[in-house]
Amino acid sequence: MSKKLLKSSLKVLCQQIRNLNLLEYQSKVLLANHNVNVQKFEVVSNTSKAKDVSKHLNAKEYVVKAQVLAGGRGLGHFNTGFKGGVHLTKDPEQVAYYVEQMLGNRLITKQTPKEGIPVHHVMVAESVDIHRETYLCILMDREHNGPVLVASPAGGTDIEDVAEKTPHLIKTVPIDIFEGVPQKTAEEVAEFLEFKGEAKNKAANEVLKLWELFKTVDAIQLEINPLAETPEGNVVSVDAKLGFDDNAKFRQKEIFDMEDTTESDPREVEANKYNLNYIGMDGNIGCLVNGAGLAMATMDIIKLYGGEPANFLDVGGTVQEQQVQQAFQILTSDKNVKALLVNVFGGIVNCATIANGIVNASKNINLKVPLVVRLEGTNVDEAKKVLSESGLPILTATNLDEAAKKAVASLSS
Ligand code: GDP
Ligand code: MG
Repeated sequence: MSKKLLKSSLKVLCQQIRNLNLLEYQSKVLLANHNVNVQKFEVVSNTSKAKDVSKHLNAKEYVVKAQVLAGGRGLGHFNTGFKGGVHLTKDPEQVAYYVEQMLGNRLITKQTPKEGIPVHHVMVAESVDIHRETYLCILMDREHNGPVLVASPAGGTDIEDVAEKTPHLIKTVPIDIFEGVPQKTAEEVAEFLEFKGEAKNKAANEVLKLWELFKTVDAIQLEINPLAETPEGNVVSVDAKLGFDDNAKFRQKEIFDMEDTTESDPREVEANKYNLNYIGMDGNIGCLVNGAGLAMATMDIIKLYGGEPANFLDVGGTVQEQQVQQAFQILTSDKNVKALLVNVFGGIVNCATIANGIVNASKNINLKVPLVVRLEGTNVDEAKKVLSESGLPILTATNLDEAAKKAVASLSS
């Protein structure tokens, strides 16, 4: 398997589990609600508001931060050439200038795609006087079958670098999810983070509050970098990143409603509305499949016959007729799609349901591109009958190989 192929296959697999990530300002609202110590801030989405913000905050010094779902903003740059997604200034005029340089432009950092991410929100905050930067993260860890606390006194910088070059500066503490973080553990972590005296008590207290938040909101990741110490010995979460597992959605509706989808592919967003997984690619064959394994096999075999998938829509195991129609609509909204391939193995899925969905969708959206269908499994005979009696020019195939061949051939017919 080529590297590129492997990468896209992994993308297919990874997208099975959709995670919600919040922007820094959204994370900080949750932190503040759980009494975690964060600086005062406001969010600007419109340059005309930039001047008012500094008036409201009335701080000695301000920090202006681009809000994107990626780290390394401080060291990033914009597509305009403007440097830095995090800026400090004492001058309110300068605050407005920084906001203008950020809003509407794309920020490129080590963690973004190379074209960067558009900035729709900028945080203006009261700057924290930072004496020292530490690192703290709580995450669900497969290796430990539960939550772990990861701490390092070498915060602020890239934690992967610290892990690689100075691993002794990282401490990992498994946490019993029922017992929570014992006071003693919180104190040990604070000590490892090199907080001393009263600051150590304060840091331990922040660790406990961050744990409470992590548990209460069903997070899978809560990263504070830096967890900063001020010259007065206060402990402040200066940068925060919160991530959630989609399985938490039913319990955390308010949090999931905060999702900022402006960074995502609109088709992905549309697909998610109907409980479908969409993955956009660069080719011209639109693929409707069920399951990540079948998606990968379909991709491999299309490529084998010289074709390129335009996209994948995974309808999962509980698909209803109506969803097939949504799926067709989303797949064909990509103007690069010159043929559609349906490859569904009906185990739990009833093939007749899919067949009815296909026929109705083709009629309702007035499908213009060739359609190749390979159905196998539960109720497949009934499904074949539905397709053949539909009067539609549907090309059927009995196996994946034939289906892929026909789909690729249909492009040149
Ligand atoms: P990131 O680059 O995306 O991780 O964004 P951060 O919010 O972590 O900011 C990057 C760096 O800018 C931090 O590690 C700090 O050194 C600095 N920084 C961020 N906010 C403040 C602040 O309020 N005051 C001061 N003095 N420095 C800050
Ligand atoms: Mg940071």
